[in-house]
Amino acid sequence: MADQKKRLDSNVTGNFYVDATCINCDTCRQLAPASFEEVGSFSAVTSQPTDEEHLHRAYQALLACPVGSIGIEQSEPVQMQEAMASFPLHLEDGVYYCGFNSKKSLGANSFFLEHPDGNWLIDSPRYLKHLVEAFERKGGLSYIFLTHKDDVAEAEKYATHFGAKRIIHRADLEAAPGAEWIIEDVTSSQIFPQFEIIPVPGHTAGCMALLYKNKFLFTGDHLWWDSKQQVLRAPSQRVWRKRVLLDSLQKLLGYRFEWVLAGHGDRVRLSAESMQSHVQTLIERHHPTRVSP
Ligand code: SF4
Repeated sequence: MADQKKRLDSNVTGNFYVDATCINCDTCRQLAPASFEEVGSFSAVTSQPTDEEHLHRAYQALLACPVGSIGIEQSEPVQMQEAMASFPLHLEDGVYYCGFNSKKSLGANSFFLEHPDGNWLIDSPRYLKHLVEAFERKGGLSYIFLTHKDDVAEAEKYATHFGAKRIIHRADLEAAPGAEWIIEDVTSSQIFPQFEIIPVPGHTAGCMALLYKNKFLFTGDHLWWDSKQQVLRAPSQRVWRKRVLLDSLQKLLGYRFEWVLAGHGDRVRLSAESMQSHVQTLIERHHPTRVSP
């Protein structure tokens, strides 16, 4: 719970505020960009929500915040309930953003994928009754895809509850030593029709992306959308091997996808052509002399 005594001065006056426990994970700014902005090394409420839609988004941000840094002076139980019921949040075609980001992954986004042959979780949100029941209503979980070692969060609890198989790369196995499905490959593999695992080492040795339907690319911390600058970004700090990271970015030019669904950083949907062009620009930014195919 946020603490009024720790309310940041950068907040505007009004019901919603951010306190000094904020870890600057960006979740609130992705969900409610009209209300939350980055000010210094924290988020702050720079515009109080004034209409129903913005109010709903601000409550979604409050619930998704991994460390409970968003507070309200006066609670509106109906709006809170509606925001709660909106998670997992449908994006498109049976793909959902889970909400309830976990502080164990420093607030990484996680996703739920509804599929007739078994549902998927991509990285892990907080282990929460609300989400467990929501997944149960949709038929449970069969697979938990772990993009890399930093965003495992509470995957083990979900795997135990649902009897789901956790999928992780051997090189990042230390984060989930009991994982049921270990990927050894360094090349891409189609594990089911419409599901392709693409190893993308760089940020960590075991980073993987999951491509679904040649449309949705779950990228963990390998690739994300910078909504302020309207560009794709890849890690420039905390990188295991920069050269390998660049090779992994270049590898993505061989795939068609319209969505980038990231752990840290924003998600985006573009045309497949525009996405390719953004990936190419990103590679050129990271390494101007690298020739793209
Ligand atoms: S979601 Fe919470 S921790 Fe993350 S930036 Fe917003 S206020 Fe800070």
